[in-house]
Amino acid sequence: MNFQNKNNQFWPFSNSYLSLPNVFFEILKPEKIKNPKLIKYNKLLSQELNFNIEDTNLIKDLFSGNYIPDKAKTIALAYSGHQFGNFVPNLGDGRAILLGELAKQDGTLVDVQLKGSGKTKFSRNGDGKAPLGPVIREYIISEAMNALSIPTTRSLAIVSTGEKVFREKTLPGGILTRSASSHLRVGTFQFCQILNDQNKLKKLCDFTINRHFPHIKNKKNPYLELLIEVQENQTYLISRWMSAGFIHGVMNTDNTSISGETIDFGPCAFMDEYNPSTVFSSIDFNGRYSFSNQPGIAQWNIARFAESILPLINDDEKIAISQANEIINEYPKIFKQKWLDIMGKKIGIEKIQTSDEILINNLLNIMSKNHLDFTITFRNLCDKYITNENNNSEINNWKNEWFERINKQGLEFKTISTNMKKINPLYIPRNHLVEKVINEAINNENYQPLEDILEVINNPYSKKIDDIFYTATPNPDERVYQTFCGT
Ligand code: AMP
Ligand code: MG
Repeated sequence: MNFQNKNNQFWPFSNSYLSLPNVFFEILKPEKIKNPKLIKYNKLLSQELNFNIEDTNLIKDLFSGNYIPDKAKTIALAYSGHQFGNFVPNLGDGRAILLGELAKQDGTLVDVQLKGSGKTKFSRNGDGKAPLGPVIREYIISEAMNALSIPTTRSLAIVSTGEKVFREKTLPGGILTRSASSHLRVGTFQFCQILNDQNKLKKLCDFTINRHFPHIKNKKNPYLELLIEVQENQTYLISRWMSAGFIHGVMNTDNTSISGETIDFGPCAFMDEYNPSTVFSSIDFNGRYSFSNQPGIAQWNIARFAESILPLINDDEKIAISQANEIINEYPKIFKQKWLDIMGKKIGIEKIQTSDEILINNLLNIMSKNHLDFTITFRNLCDKYITNENNNSEINNWKNEWFERINKQGLEFKTISTNMKKINPLYIPRNHLVEKVINEAINNENYQPLEDILEVINNPYSKKIDDIFYTATPNPDERVYQTFCGT
């Protein structure tokens, strides 16, 4: 539905989701905003998406939801989900509206969605709005993830609405435009599961296969293959999170993307000091989504996905369960291999061996025991040291073993170090910095710190001359122990 009508009403988006049965969405338009301001626009991403609009007024109107031609069908998507382990049937886009898809140069479709654009039929008790703070946070962190080559949804624009949003306190409102390779979630399939309609389930699965995994279309059992693909993508994603010290914070099944992208940045954060049991989210009372629980939780989420597509895997439920189990039981092995690969590279080992796991775990133990910063430790290692402290025998012993191991590769250290510096970032969007950027934007309408941090995190591996501000770990009074969904 990509059109330019007689009133010259331009609309660049198609919307293939409309081909699904209409229980999967609600057609509606975003609420109009009286006084929108475009405070950030991601020009580079817009080029990747072939969105070559220069008119900033049009950009502002599109991404505030004010400009939607009558003919355009924008939609809120239905989904269910397990939130902190409890099934909630009626979630869905309560404050997001899918404008539609843009096509990249290679033809791949990318969803473009407004978040914070008003109520939908899925809003339950929510106001459909987003405070500007979490919008800025999602923009920064998703772009950082992308720069670190971690699969992620992206951020295209931030609009401030000029409206007040009421939470524990009154906050300025914002709208994030985000792009995603799709918004299909494990929760979308769980929503379908409770419809108990195999025809609809098949339509949803075929749509998903066409969109993300066309190569499995003609396989003997494409739905079992779908499970394998989803597991492959999730294990890759979580191994990358674990290698960057990233904590998602709310790994509910509705926040688990089928494409394997990081999605729905709520109370997420990069760790400073390494502690595997770190939890940031203010609502995660039992530490369900702590750093070290993430691989296991992703497996649990995949099991929920498998359950929701069982009727397509095999007509005989018992056989379907045993086939799905066989795949899910492979998860630990697949995850471990991916994790070892990336962690090995982080410490300069190109071809990982099973015996290297001890070396990696010993380093992590040292880091945790000595309260070392996750990012800085790995970056220091690229220059052959761990901390400036030289009299820790455990650290020195580990270093000796490590030298011995990397020397076996027959490469000069300089080469190893150069490779390590391509994978161990200097800059991550540390929580205390993100908070400063948000405070400046919200309290003083000063968006320069946002520009500055984006420039830094977009080149996370190359050293800036004046970088102490961005590399320094937080002072005790700057430490952020809790992050909030901010919904
Ligand atoms: P999230 O925590 O952002 O993943 O959202 C969980 C669920 O709550 C989703 O169904 C959201 O659409 C919904 N939700 C979150 N915030 C709001 C809001 N302000 N208004 C309406 N629905 C919301
Ligand atoms: Mg969500």
